[in-house]
Amino acid sequence: MAIAQAARADEITAEVRSWLAEHWDRSLGAREWRALVVDAGWSYPSWPAEWYGRGYSRAESAIVAAEFAAAGAPWGALDVVSGHGQIELQIGANVLIAHASDELKAQLLRPILMGDLRACLLYSEPGAGSDLASIQTRAERDGDEWVFNGQKVWTTVGHLADFGLLIARSDWDQPKHQGISYFILPMHQPGVEVRPLRQMTGDAQFNEVFITDARAPLDHLVGDINDGWRVLRTALAFERIVMGSTGTRSRDDRRLPVGATIELIELARTKGRSEDRLVRQALAELYILRTVIGWNGERGAAVAARGGASPAASLGKLAMSRLLHTSASVADSLLGPSGTLYGPSVPDANSANVSLMMAFMNSIGGGSDQIQRNIIAERILGLPKDLSTDHDVPFRDVPKAPARLERRGSGSPSA
Ligand SMILES: Cc1cc2nc3c(=O)[nH]c(=O)nc-3n(C[C@H](O)[C@H](O)[C@H](O)COP(=O)(O)OP(=O)(O)OC[C@H]3O[C@@H](n4cnc5c(N)ncnc54)[C@H](O)[C@@H]3O)c2cc1C
Repeated sequence: MAIAQAARADEITAEVRSWLAEHWDRSLGAREWRALVVDAGWSYPSWPAEWYGRGYSRAESAIVAAEFAAAGAPWGALDVVSGHGQIELQIGANVLIAHASDELKAQLLRPILMGDLRACLLYSEPGAGSDLASIQTRAERDGDEWVFNGQKVWTTVGHLADFGLLIARSDWDQPKHQGISYFILPMHQPGVEVRPLRQMTGDAQFNEVFITDARAPLDHLVGDINDGWRVLRTALAFERIVMGSTGTRSRDDRRLPVGATIELIELARTKGRSEDRLVRQALAELYILRTVIGWNGERGAAVAARGGASPAASLGKLAMSRLLHTSASVADSLLGPSGTLYGPSVPDANSANVSLMMAFMNSIGGGSDQIQRNIIAERILGLPKDLSTDHDVPFRDVPKAPARLERRGSGSPSA
């Protein structure tokens, strides 16, 4: 077995090296190079061979990454560090591969890989967050198109998106989880109005989205009609894997020292606290969390790649949330009173404060910590499910919150 694996690794190494020797040319433009990499199946080697991949395992994909790095050749289709690529590529494209028709894959996958299309997640509504199956945005068929009406909220990068991954209610006579379908909604149309929301970091990265008679072609349905909950579970698993692996980023869009134990060790040294037992214990806890998150991410990703939804993704996301909050509070305690300061003249304190605020992104977005704990309790520990009175009744008969909130007067970011 080990011999066969080693032979396969050698074969892949030889193939990447020979391809790089033939094609890698520093004088190529970024876009030209990206197109070559995408079309040769190297940008996402774990994807199926018929869809811009090579069907490689994660370990085999790592060989490709290492060979590109050794050659000094840019790898991957998008600049994931800047945030571009997380929703459309790591969530959207993976969901399309698992559930969409070949026609839809053919339309969207290459533009996504080329960085030409950005996406947002149109899930949450004013009356549906943790209880996402309570969504009331309507999807109705009108000839060759779907027509949508409703309101979404907390839509990250909705103002930049070309398409939305939308869940909408397609059958009101089914129980709440069964009448939902999953769609691709083109964002640039008169029926889609995106309005920014200001968050506590001062950024306006998320939005509310008003959907009024917005349209999509019939083939923009992902999976079967009324089977959107299954598609959504795969999508949420991918989202939780992303959130469990990359942490979050700062106001100026640089990668934060999230859970960066090394940087906290440095800070502890600078502040003369590196021998403090409580500090050492906290740093060890962070190290353990990071390690466990990595393992759970691998487990969750393996299941999600087959179109499933592993509860391990919830473990990783919850651990990342603890890591982010604990890192920020350790940094804060090391900084002492200066930790309350903000601004470029106090970079350590500023970074700790922004980290603390951004930590809430992970503990609420993609399903709150409490919801991850419910999933872990029910699906990993086998504890009894929460009591529910509305799971088996037609959604039409379930008491509901208002589906849509009033638009505020101005189009400027709200306070
Ligand atoms: C930074 C950020 C980015 C986001 N981006 C997007 C996005 O791009 N697209 C999108 O659709 N949504 C997005 N969201 C929305 C996010 O998914 C919801 O905020 C989240 O699911 C919680 O829903 P809610 O805000 O309606 O809170 P609620 O569901 O009202 O929950 C309120 C509180 O009650 C707790 N609670 C609720 N139900 C239970 C329960 N059964 N058991 C225990 N506790 C419970 C929750 O944990 C929470 O503490 C984003 C949110 C944030 C913070």
